[in-house]
Amino acid sequence: DSMIIVDAFHQEVASQGIEDQIDIVRTGCFGLCELGPVVIVYPEEVFYSRVTVEDVAEIVEDHLLKGQIVERLVYEASIEDGEILPLQQVDFFRKQMRIALRNCGTIDPEEIDEYIAMSGYKGLHNVLTMMQPGEVIRTVKEAGLRGRGGGGFPTGVKWETAAKQNNPQKYIICNADEGDPGAFMDRSILEGDPHSVLEGMAIAGYAIGADQGFIYVRAEYPIAVRRIQLAIKQAREYGLLGANLFGSDFSFDVSVRLGAGAFVCGEETALMNSVEGKRGMPNPKPPFPAVSGLWEKPTVINNVETLANIPQVMLKGSAWYAGIGTDKSKGTKVFALGGKVVNTGLVEVPMGITLREVIFEIGGGIPGGKAFKAVQTGGPSGGCLTSEHLDRKIDYDTLLSLGSMMGSGGMLVMDEETCMVDVARYYLDFTRDESCGKCVPCRIGTKRLLEILERITEGKGTMEDLDVLDELSVQIKAASLCGLGQTAPNPVLSTLKYFRDEYVAHVVDKK
Ligand code: SF4
Repeated sequence: DSMIIVDAFHQEVASQGIEDQIDIVRTGCFGLCELGPVVIVYPEEVFYSRVTVEDVAEIVEDHLLKGQIVERLVYEASIEDGEILPLQQVDFFRKQMRIALRNCGTIDPEEIDEYIAMSGYKGLHNVLTMMQPGEVIRTVKEAGLRGRGGGGFPTGVKWETAAKQNNPQKYIICNADEGDPGAFMDRSILEGDPHSVLEGMAIAGYAIGADQGFIYVRAEYPIAVRRIQLAIKQAREYGLLGANLFGSDFSFDVSVRLGAGAFVCGEETALMNSVEGKRGMPNPKPPFPAVSGLWEKPTVINNVETLANIPQVMLKGSAWYAGIGTDKSKGTKVFALGGKVVNTGLVEVPMGITLREVIFEIGGGIPGGKAFKAVQTGGPSGGCLTSEHLDRKIDYDTLLSLGSMMGSGGMLVMDEETCMVDVARYYLDFTRDESCGKCVPCRIGTKRLLEILERITEGKGTMEDLDVLDELSVQIKAASLCGLGQTAPNPVLSTLKYFRDEYVAHVVDKK
């Protein structure tokens, strides 16, 4: 759709003879996906939503030529008292803070010059010309950046472990195997600002002493794959990937590896097996990848969002980054806000913001005047939280303490009509399907959990089933080999804990 509209704008401005005065830039996602295709006219920052090809001539003739805003197309929430608000003051954007998404929706991701114009590759330049690898690691540690892919492990500590290994060959892997249902944070960054990830990888490579990086991205993301490949080509042409970067003795290059869409390949050891051309199954840890990873060489695996933060940390410093967020969760987090919420889309918020602020202020609340019931964070590895938790802060430790987790950033809102047992069944169906089958607790356990949940949703379950669900979930968590199995029961446990009455309402022998 967007390409057709871009073409229509080119034709229209050419036919009006103003092609030399207007820049038409096709960007990545700006966040409000459901309002697309979106057209933003600068410098006024007028936000036109759901633009069709038929609207293009009117925007060009009225707005670009005569300076008259086409009111019927303006995003409603950006108008207050008849005035058009700057985007930063619109509810959806007001509480956001865009670091990882800083360029998404504003630059052309297929033009390296646009990234460079936004201080792109300046962080890498500063690192290579002014800092020792140890200083880079210290900066990332002091910034307090934690892995955005799910676990929240401190990025600087991971880098430090790899840097300490006495091995001439090391690797950086960017994990772009985003597989949670409803999650599209990584895809949007790769599509909207691919150079930020390449720059982050090169900085990580310098810090640990790696000269080769791999981006493991699922083949179902064709636009992301094409843009990252184009970005690699352009960065090589500009001397920003390859030998002796910025005249230093540091060389670094990046290759793309395509994944076939198995959820388990997001797990670090399974991912490395897949990159090596083996079947994508997890291995026991230790050894940890930072010690012995890809082809048994020290390997740092960072998620897309983590890497996209790195250039900004290097440019603005650890104190700036550490000043954002909470005590133990620094910086911002990108969420894919979806489900029963007015504004669905991609949001980036400072850690420590409350669930209420995200769902009701940024998200605009629940559509149709319905009541909020629950929010699922962390996708299939996470859990469901209730209205009691709306004022709790979003950070790694709080979410974990409530029985959910940050995960990679899925945030699914549910209204009063959602059946929570069915939600648990849905996630278990997903994890059972995606279990690689290597270990029994996950392979058989998720199957049994699903059978019980199906029985309950069909109205044939018993109170004893609820006890079995609980016990089996705890055992699967404790005995599974990898993160998939260790977290698969979370949606069951959290719904059992917070919505037990709904389970009881389904069973045949209610007590
Ligand atoms: Fe495979 Fe599940 Fe075991 Fe992980 S926990 S190794 S996905 S069977």
